[in-house]
Amino acid sequence: AAKEKGRNQFHIFDPGLDAHRRQRRDQLMQISQALENEEFELYFQPQVRMVDCQVIAFEALIRWNHPDKGLIGPVEFLPAVANSHLEIPLGQWVLKEAIHQMNLWHEADESLAVSINISAPHLMDRSFADYLESYLHSHPDVRPGQITLEVLESTALEDTKRASNVLARCQSLGLQVALDDFGTGFSSLTYLRTLPVDVIKIDQSFVRNMLTDASDRAIVESVIFLAQRFDHPVLAEGVETMEHARALRDMGCNLIQGYGIARPMPAKALLPWLAQWRDQVSRHQSLGKHEQTS
Ligand code: C2E
Ligand code: MG
Ligand code: MG
Ligand code: MG
Repeated sequence: AAKEKGRNQFHIFDPGLDAHRRQRRDQLMQISQALENEEFELYFQPQVRMVDCQVIAFEALIRWNHPDKGLIGPVEFLPAVANSHLEIPLGQWVLKEAIHQMNLWHEADESLAVSINISAPHLMDRSFADYLESYLHSHPDVRPGQITLEVLESTALEDTKRASNVLARCQSLGLQVALDDFGTGFSSLTYLRTLPVDVIKIDQSFVRNMLTDASDRAIVESVIFLAQRFDHPVLAEGVETMEHARALRDMGCNLIQGYGIARPMPAKALLPWLAQWRDQVSRHQSLGKHEQTS
């Protein structure tokens, strides 16, 4: 009887849920169409090393150029894609496009590296490293060491053993692995211990208020300490001001990323931006040398 009851409850008509399902299905159809129509675009945001202010990589961040609605950010469409049949194809498009862009930039600058966000199903896919390898084969100018895979710390991985095998294979190809949004999930420390990780990214929600909020500051300091103990470089996200950058440097943070350096930009803006950034840095450095000698 209890079983019967459970089954009946499951079938209770819920117009809200139904509307929600229909909406998601419509959105998925639009996204699938958009993928075919090439309406997606990668933007790129620089990641900077604190000791010498050099740009070490650009993080690829997906955008949707919607014909009617204009530019749409990932928080508006990735949730619909999550756990759908489109998650793998969209992720593969991102990988291919990022590697393709890197290949184009390398004609001007061979040092450019890219950091790519990877969603959970890829990490459950044993052939992930294989197709990654095949994309790399078709772009011989791109070295695997110039690619970092950003793995979301907050995604509940069904099978961390399998995920670590997939990531370890990627590392054996030469790729780097970053643990993204560190501290926001339920099992940060378990992931840190189980997954093969090269870089830790402190989530921007801790960085944002760390100058005024003592507990956020304590979290940022502790993550940096933890990263150092594990010998992992640590990157702080969401660095919006010079004060944030200075405080992070004083805490021993290695890398920063945020609007304070640059907002994510379209691919074509990247080389001009980089030239300008390097120019500024070298001017500052020669100014610094001047001050030291005089
Ligand atoms: P994320 O990987 O943690 O990326 C950082 C997000 O913070 C980006 O938002 C970036 O634009 C934003 N951001 C960077 N600096 C600042 C700052 O100083 N202040 C503030 N307030 N925000 C800053 P975006 O581009 O909207 O992406 C949101 C999330 O969507 C990403 O978080 C990532 O988890 C996901 N995502 C984006 N692109 C992709 C992709 O190609 N594949 C996958 N699987 N996920 C992606
Ligand atoms: Mg990321
Ligand atoms: Mg992040
Ligand atoms: Mg995030």
